[in-house]
Formats: sequence, structure tokens, C-alpha cells
Amino acid sequence: MFNKILIANRGEIACRVIRACRELGIKTVSIHSESDRDCLHVKLADQSICVGPASAAESYLNIPSIIAAAEISGADAIHPGYGFLAENTYFAEVCEACGIKFIGPSKESIQKMGDKIAAIALMKSAKVPVVPGSDGPINSDDPKIFSLAEKIGYPIIIKAAAGGGGKGMRIVPSAESLKNAVILAQTEAKAAFSNADVYMEKYIEEPHHIEFQILGDQFGNVCYLPERDCSIQRRHQKLVEESPSTFISEKLRKVMGKAARQAAKAVKYSTVGTVEFLVDKKGHFYFMEMNTRIQVEHPVSEAVTGIDLVKEQIKLAAGEKLALHSDKIKILGHAIECRINAEDPDKDFIPSPGKIGFLFLPGGPGIRVDTHVYSGYSIPPFYDSLIAKIIAFGANREEAIIRMSRALREVEIENIKNTASLHLKIMNSEKFRKGNPATDFLQKYIFNS
Ligand code: ADP
Repeated sequence: MFNKILIANRGEIACRVIRACRELGIKTVSIHSESDRDCLHVKLADQSICVGPASAAESYLNIPSIIAAAEISGADAIHPGYGFLAENTYFAEVCEACGIKFIGPSKESIQKMGDKIAAIALMKSAKVPVVPGSDGPINSDDPKIFSLAEKIGYPIIIKAAAGGGGKGMRIVPSAESLKNAVILAQTEAKAAFSNADVYMEKYIEEPHHIEFQILGDQFGNVCYLPERDCSIQRRHQKLVEESPSTFISEKLRKVMGKAARQAAKAVKYSTVGTVEFLVDKKGHFYFMEMNTRIQVEHPVSEAVTGIDLVKEQIKLAAGEKLALHSDKIKILGHAIECRINAEDPDKDFIPSPGKIGFLFLPGGPGIRVDTHVYSGYSIPPFYDSLIAKIIAFGANREEAIIRMSRALREVEIENIKNTASLHLKIMNSEKFRKGNPATDFLQKYIFNS
């Protein structure tokens, strides 16, 4: 087992990893930017090292500084959290070259799944169902894109090969707007990911975003956990996640879980990760992408299975054999996660950084809160707006919703506009309570109501 782990991240996920390390008896080193000296992850870790100025490019993405911090502190492993360097092949490679264990997949697995076009091709060859599409990058100057779109059938969606966070996507209803949409998607992709490659896919109408948490070890064992339903999204970004999904039957869970395992085996996956699928109204499912990291929404899976995914991830990185088996994992109840962002839901979600006055975050039966903020903390304007995750667990969905609504009503974050009120609207909506929300839920039932 590791002696000391450096956490190459900030905020709630850095705190989450520190807690897992503590329970495993591992010392922790956090890193911070100049603007993050007061962040909770700095206070929670055994030691913390400043790696650069506020801008992420100069701090949390600064590979030489982070490696130097690991070497100075004597860390034998680095946990990248999510975002920043978590899916950066070069970083995984540098860690390996420096004799520091990267707590994540091999650089080959990251590479294979990082390019969505290559990942889809690989999944096709592994007999995992994929969305009908272009089977490769497309170009706005190529006249063949019109016949291809015709063959796939409108509406189609243009997506970025290096995509993430819902960026670089364009829905195209008909041939008139196709060329323009490809140009715009390429421009967006280039700006966001420094990679202009885009591809075409059938746009699945009113789909459900269903994903499977998987765990793999170095001996080829892979297991999957019950699905998470992440269909409540704004601009293709997740806001609410729950497990299990009301839309998925036990039979479909098994079939999709096995497909997720097949996907992981195809890249010799040896850590925690997530296989994302879209499911159409008829229950047909299609591979969308694989995230080769621990995800924001991992606590809902932890709540319904009782498995500590971060501890498992660390144990797997240390070379332990996977002790879990999909068929033996029980669904213990129902869990829902609401992402509380420092954004103003009444003003098109503009970020709301600044100094928190009084802070009260909920607790009580069935409530878990993962956060890095506290009374008097100043939310810097430089990073992600996620400030807390509330996870409600209940014996069944109804109890989880009741607990979540109760918890949301307790939230008080003085001076900071946040999304708690929007979540309360979702929890109280008849439509959500009935179950089976699709990805158009927010637009259809919350913003238009
Ligand atoms: P990102 O990596 O940017 O998060 P994803 O490929 O995971 O992108 O897709 C994010 C969301 O975009 C999905 O959950 C879904 O709501 C929507 N989406 C993506 N592809 C399609 C598609 N082919 N049809 C319908 N919706 C899609």
C-alpha cells in the first residue's frame, strides 16, 4: 500500500480523496494555487504545497510543479481527482517515468477512450452497441456529409472527438443547417479542446443518460455496479443523478452492465471508471463514451451499494485484486445527488463567486454533503462553480426525494446565488416524482413551467 498520496486537484474531490486516504492510514499532500490557500482541502491534508498562481494553467495543470511537489514531499502516488489532469495521457506518462504511481488507468486506456471517435470504433469491434454515425471525423467541405446525414436520418448531432462537459455539440434538424453546424462545432471544439475533430451521430430523441460504474483490476477482473441515471441535465451537463434508474428494468440492467464490462475489458481497464450509454424510448441502448476517472456523481453509487469507490480505487492502484462481484452487489435503497453550483439560476446561471457569509449545509438521516466551503470562505472566480454535492439516501425513491427536499430547504449560503432553489423545484415537480425523466426534462418541465 502507498505511504503518501499527493492529490493533484482542489475543492470537494480533493477533500473526498483525503478522507479515503485517512481511513486507509495513508498520509496526504494537497497542492494549491495562490488563490486557494484557504480552501478546505489545504486544511484537511497533512501538508500542502503551493504549485503556482491562480490560473489553472499555471497551477493545477502545471505538470512540472506538481511532479516537483510530489518529489519534495516524498509522495509515492498521485490521485488526479476529476477534471484538470485526470484524463491527461502525458501526465500519466510523466508520473510513470518519475516512478510515481498514477492512481488511474494506464496511459493506453486513457488514450484509447480519450478520443471519442477511436473509442466508438473500438466499442463497435468489441460488439458494444453504438449510436449510428459517421465512423470517423467529418469535414464541412466534404459533400459526402449530406448523403451520410441523409442515410443516418435527421435530426443528427455533431460532437467533438475530444469533447467533455457538453461542449462542442450541435443538433442539426435538417440539411439546410448542416454545413454551418459542422463549421461552428469545429470552431468550438478547437477553442475548448485544441482539437477541431468532430463527428456525426444520430440524435436520439428524448433519451435517458444511463451510466455504469465499473471497477477493474490488473488481473483482468471487471465488475459493474447498478446504473446511475443522469438524465437531468442543462446544456448537456448533469445536474441531478440518481441510482437506480426508474427507467431500467432488472433485465436491462444486466444486459447493459455486461456491455459496460465488455467495454472495460476491451481496453484492459484496471481501475474505476464509467461507461456512459444513451437509452431510447424503446429501451435500445447505445455506448456514448467512457470516462476514465472517478466521477462527480460517484457518491450515489456508494450510497446504494455501500462500497467506498475512492478507497477501492486506491487499493486497485496499489495492485490489490478486485474483491467485488457484480452478481453479489445488492441495491440497498435509492440515492439522489444534487449539484449545488455557485450560479444564479434566475440570471442564466451566471457564476456567483465571492465571500460566503453565514453557511449552513444540511445533515440528518440519509444526507451526505461533500463540499470544500465553510462560513467566511471566499469562492474564487477561477475554477468550476460546483461548491457542494448533496446526496440523499432512502429505503426507496420516495424517501430519497423527501429527504432531498428537506435537505435543500435547510441550505443557507449567505451572499452566494446558488442552484439549491432550482433543485427544490425539480424535487417538488410531479413529473420528476413520477420518474423516467429524459434529457429534455429541465427544458420541458422546469424552465418552461
Ligand atoms: P460530454 O463528454 O461533453 O459530456 P457526452 O457524449 O457524454 O458529452 O454527452 C453529453 C450529453 O449530450 C448526453 O448525456 C446527452 O444528453 C447528449 N447527447 C450526446 N449525444 C447524443 C445523441 N447522439 N443523441 C441525443 N443526445 C445526445
